[in-house]
Amino acid sequence: MWFSNQIIPWYQKNLRKLPWRETKDPYKIWISEVILQQTRVDQGLPYYHNFLKAFPTIQKLAIAEENQVLKLWQGLGYYSRARNLHTTAKQITTKRNGHFPTDYHDILKLKGVGTYTAAAISSFCYGKPYPVLDGNVYRVISRVFGIYDDIDSPAGKKIFSDKLSILINVKQPGLFNQAMMEFGALQCVPGIPNCNKCIFKAQCHAYNKNVINQLPKRSKKVSIRIRYFNYMMINDNNSFFLQKRTKKDIWQNLYEPLLIESDKVLNRKEIMSTKEWMRLFSKGIVLKNASKVYCHKLTHQTIFARFWVIKSKGPVKIKELRKIKQSEIKNYPMSKLIETYIDNISVNNCLK
Ligand code: SF4
Repeated sequence: MWFSNQIIPWYQKNLRKLPWRETKDPYKIWISEVILQQTRVDQGLPYYHNFLKAFPTIQKLAIAEENQVLKLWQGLGYYSRARNLHTTAKQITTKRNGHFPTDYHDILKLKGVGTYTAAAISSFCYGKPYPVLDGNVYRVISRVFGIYDDIDSPAGKKIFSDKLSILINVKQPGLFNQAMMEFGALQCVPGIPNCNKCIFKAQCHAYNKNVINQLPKRSKKVSIRIRYFNYMMINDNNSFFLQKRTKKDIWQNLYEPLLIESDKVLNRKEIMSTKEWMRLFSKGIVLKNASKVYCHKLTHQTIFARFWVIKSKGPVKIKELRKIKQSEIKNYPMSKLIETYIDNISVNNCLK
């Protein structure tokens, strides 16, 4: 109880005023939690406002075009989150008459909803004592209580979850969960926190044993996949030819120019010798200007991309491609990488 008695008043004094903290509407809480997965609050805030402006209710989200949903998500990454939101909104509208489930286990059954989001919605909206467990919470608990178990292992996760089940304030679970997350985000931060100003200075294991940098323990190393993208830019009278990425891969259902993927950066001759080039293009089509090599980092992948302008004597006919006027390009969802390139060429007018 001492823990909860200290962290809740700390939260009430230090909390950031955020719009999702002023509502108990499960739809709004759900949107905020999904946006904030893998995203900082300052980065997620405008997305939250724009999303709810476009789709103020679950029914509005359900009837939206997928392109519109993905467009509003553009730049946030992890686009499967947006696709899952859209699918789930449709399911809730058709199968549950538009009513968001109130039971933790029913919430957990929704597509894309894991234990973290289900616990957040259950505790914030319905006052149910399900503890949230995210990176911030692991950090706080491991440091204060000196828990050295691996947060990437199922056994380690269970130890943290059991600990939180004891610590949670069952009368104010929503407030307790918010306090834990905010304390990890503002006070017990990764790296070197300001322990001298911390309310747990006297009790904190990590501070008193000088092991702050050793906690939490994790075994998983993020392995980064390196990929090389050669994009073929085809233009025609201020229109671009783009295709939809349909495969199960990054950026699914987003738009991009024709792509030839390779295992290294290719020069002009090498690209024109690839099987993909020969399948796509007939003779008389050549590569003209090449952009610089863009380096685009995602959590698990680093992409080196170069954009080539295609020059053709006649029209290029490839069934996957859609001709999109430059004035309409902003209606199509695309990755930050493609957006940056298109913005650059629009400014420099260099696609000639
Ligand atoms: S004393 Fe330092 S390490 Fe311990 S909880 Fe406070 S900020 Fe975190």
